[in-house]
Amino acid sequence: ETIGTSLTRSVALFGDREALVDVQGGRRWTYAEFGRAVEEVALGLLAKGVAQGDRVGIWAVNCPEWMIVQYATARIGAIMVNINPAYRVHELSYVLRQSGVSVLVSATAYKTSDYRRMVEQVRGDCPALRDVVYLDDSTWTGLVRLGAGTPRERLAEREAALSPEDPVNIQYTSGTTGFAKGATLSHRNILNNGYFVGETLGYTEEDRIALPVPFYHCFGMVMGNLAATTHGACVVIPAPVFDPTATLHAVERERCTSLYGVPTMFIAELDLPDFATYDLSSLRTGIMAGSPCPAEVMKRVVAEMHMEEVTICYGMTETSPVSTQTRREDDLDRRTGTVGRVLPHIEVKIVDPETGATVPRGEHGELCTRGYSVMLGYWNEPERTAEAIDADRWMHTGDLAVMDEEGYVRIVGRSKDMIIRGGENVYPREIEEFLHTHPKIADVQVIGVPDDRMGEEIMACVILHDDAGGLSRDELARYCRGRLAHYKVPRYLRVMESFPMTVSGKVRKVELREEAVALLE
Ligand code: ATP
Ligand code: MG
Repeated sequence: ETIGTSLTRSVALFGDREALVDVQGGRRWTYAEFGRAVEEVALGLLAKGVAQGDRVGIWAVNCPEWMIVQYATARIGAIMVNINPAYRVHELSYVLRQSGVSVLVSATAYKTSDYRRMVEQVRGDCPALRDVVYLDDSTWTGLVRLGAGTPRERLAEREAALSPEDPVNIQYTSGTTGFAKGATLSHRNILNNGYFVGETLGYTEEDRIALPVPFYHCFGMVMGNLAATTHGACVVIPAPVFDPTATLHAVERERCTSLYGVPTMFIAELDLPDFATYDLSSLRTGIMAGSPCPAEVMKRVVAEMHMEEVTICYGMTETSPVSTQTRREDDLDRRTGTVGRVLPHIEVKIVDPETGATVPRGEHGELCTRGYSVMLGYWNEPERTAEAIDADRWMHTGDLAVMDEEGYVRIVGRSKDMIIRGGENVYPREIEEFLHTHPKIADVQVIGVPDDRMGEEIMACVILHDDAGGLSRDELARYCRGRLAHYKVPRYLRVMESFPMTVSGKVRKVELREEAVALLE
């Protein structure tokens, strides 16, 4: 099956059910209407001469058209290139050229981002780019009109030539650890992954999913959109970009049954001064993912949002993305303290990074994964692909993890973030988990900073609750005493208002570290 045939089936099965709701724009689509909108854009792109395998870029914050383009490009066998809405000229030009985008669908502007101006600025440097369609202007309505006037047989002809193994997407990774890499994913990769994530959550056509996470990232477009359409569920867009108030408002108004977010989004929602006034009784499940999910935050989500069945997913763009997920039937400690067990038809092993041998259960190592979910490769980067995927098709994730006897996985951290203090390995994750229990701390990131004597020293960067009234390094040290091994107690404390973030909601530890180093000098 391809993404196109899967959608066609859902349109036939769930035609009169809602597929998509744009809360702020006040627009809604049933499956039948969504299917028609997708078809028109698909036919429009065909009429514009988009061939199988051509790259079509999409550059916009969350909006219904984004999702329409996602399915339209899939139906015609084009490869959609997701472009991060936070990019500026330099990065835009890089991805357009790196992936060879020939048609770009772009927002005209959002807040202070003048997308049109940036596109026009880079156009001359991108010889492959022959056409730009701007949402919100006549080029978009023109595309739709062109599609409406194109015979449907052309779409059927194209679809007959497609295979589930064809690439459908180039998704650039978050760029948390450096320059983003273009993971090339097939229909088989992401359609299956969306489907299995939806299965774990028990989605049916009764479900309504609030998606405050960006579509451009796999969290939104696979775990959200594809999980929804493979089950006849509805995607609810609370706002173009994450806003905690808009999110809770959307859950209440649209009676959402499922809510997604990276940990920092859930923290922002729980910490809203008027949090208690929202009626969240429709929620039953959801996903927290993307970066380490502190057990304390998960417990609050379960208790205060009444989300008994909320799950944690672990994965990466390169693996479609999800490899492991907690399940409704897992006990609370496992649902809050692990990333669950491997999804069907995927394998996971933990290896010694030096020797490559699988380590005994309970021991640390690098997580490797294999199965339908592993990407085709990094677009046009065979060397980097060969570094990541070995000869037996195992994807080496660069994440450090432990697996217990029953197969539950705990992510210890990224190998790049590990702190080596006086020869001792320190995992920031463990200290972060502990500091989350401090009553004054709302959010925390632990990093290593260079130190002449110890090699590296530990710094805790914290965001305090509104009513905390300050936190001193001595106070913190007292709290740690007797509860945390002395060599893990942070030497430095930095109280911050916010952390530097990627658009997908991850903390940029690299930037945090650079700032800290500059501060210490
Ligand atoms: P880049 O590869 O460009 O540096 P990135 O790795 O952040 O960026 P993504 O593919 O969006 O890009 O993120 C995948 C990574 O996010 C994983 O490798 C892992 O480190 C982290 N991650 C995802 N889910 C979880 C989770 N539940 N717990 C801990 N870490 C997670
Ligand atoms: Mg990565």
